[in-house]
Amino acid sequence: MIEILSKIYNKNFEKFKQHISKSIRENKKEFIITVNPETIMISQTNKVMKEILQNENFILVPDGISIVKSCQMCNIKIKERITGIDITKYLLSEINKQNKSLYLFGAKKEVIDNFANLIKNKYKNIKLLGFTDGYVNDKDKVFEKIIKLKPDICLVALGIPMQEEIIYKYIDRFEKGIFIGVGGTFDVLSGYKKRAPKFFIKNNLEWLYRIAKEPKRIKRFVKYNVKFYIQILKEKNIDN
Ligand code: UDP
Repeated sequence: MIEILSKIYNKNFEKFKQHISKSIRENKKEFIITVNPETIMISQTNKVMKEILQNENFILVPDGISIVKSCQMCNIKIKERITGIDITKYLLSEINKQNKSLYLFGAKKEVIDNFANLIKNKYKNIKLLGFTDGYVNDKDKVFEKIIKLKPDICLVALGIPMQEEIIYKYIDRFEKGIFIGVGGTFDVLSGYKKRAPKFFIKNNLEWLYRIAKEPKRIKRFVKYNVKFYIQILKEKNIDN
């Protein structure tokens, strides 16, 4: 696991933005993976996720504070947390500036409808090529359609690991485009769910807010986060 941590993007968000802005302008292809303990723990048993995290061509960004802290524990230099929600907001404003195109896939029907409307109203220059909710039966068919549309950005909100797996399955069939799995971002940006108040974000307590709001997340938190730290400590002790 420490090996994965050492592959995580270690510059600040500003530098990341510059890199992505250039990739969009030059019609490059990127797959951004927002890494948190859940992503890493899933990759221990899920072969596809493991391959994704090991692929040198993809960008792994430190989505959770646990990732930043565990890198520090292992003496791996890392600048700051870069979250899926902040990347999404940035991508939208950037493609609006660059008059580029977008496809949205995922979340509940009412959420994606609202989010698509919000984008049409707020980002007049974005060419929204289409959007599909994440509960359709045939998700592969949606991707076949997206391949033909050739979007500059494709945001996929199906949750880990489904969003990463489907992007990975089809990414070779795209010539360009920025692909990212954004989890519950559409729920938050459409106003369907609230992001944590600034105090929680600033003090790296966003995870606590999410658990307090949705107590069913506790099981998920224990399953992934606690085990993640135990595993990292074990590996660290073996190394020393
Ligand atoms: N989702 C979906 N299709 C599914 C399962 C989940 O579109 O079959 C969506 C769900 O509606 C939510 C997102 O995927 O918008 C996952 O959100 P979650 O909060 O679990 O992700 P996190 O941000 O915690 O990774």
